Amino acid sequence: MKILVVEDDQQVARQIETSLKNAGYVVEVVHDGEEGLYLGSHESFDAVILDLGLPKLDGIKVLQQWRNENRDMPVLILTARDTWREKVVGLRAGADDYLAKPFEIEEVLARVEALIRRATGHSKPVLTCGPVEFDTTTNRVSLNGTTIEMTALELGMLSYLMHHKGEVISKTELTEHIYDQDFDRDSNVIEVLVNRLRNKLGSRLIKTHRGLGYQLIEPDDS
Ligand code: CA
Repeated sequence: MKILVVEDDQQVARQIETSLKNAGYVVEVVHDGEEGLYLGSHESFDAVILDLGLPKLDGIKVLQQWRNENRDMPVLILTARDTWREKVVGLRAGADDYLAKPFEIEEVLARVEALIRRATGHSKPVLTCGPVEFDTTTNRVSLNGTTIEMTALELGMLSYLMHHKGEVISKTELTEHIYDQDFDRDSNVIEVLVNRLRNKLGSRLIKTHRGLGYQLIEPDDS
């Protein structure tokens, strides 16, 4: 899962970036509205954390522009003060949630998890696929109730596939959501990861659609 953070306060940005990365997200951070607007318009993100008071272009304008372009990723806005006006303007500009500064970082993480769940059509924090369970709040993975150890990349891929269960996901899309920008897209690392997940969680969990991508399926749906 890939998150865009648009925040000009370097300290706040770093704190959010560190916590998100520790929680297993791929994170891109920019410090002004213009850069934020560009990235959010041209790259694919699973959620955005957007400060409203930004240099060059304010957060509300960034958000309005994304929504005008039909960019529909969930957006959590950060408001400087706990004023109701800013929240109302932000929500009406297309924000999905807000948080007033100062905030506890755990709350940021919990809200991002919830936003991604809702945006992908899930209401429960534990996602299941047959015998496999993935807890979005702890990143715990289990197979028939037994915890399975995962590397960060395996977790990243499983999280994306679990959130998008049943959809055929292209290699490009997977790459975009589990690696950061400078990743070499020609390598076969996605296939390697898919095979590692199959080895750990069962060969029938992920179906290959030649030339199209991969699909996480319930064991009975194959
Ligand atoms: Ca600011």
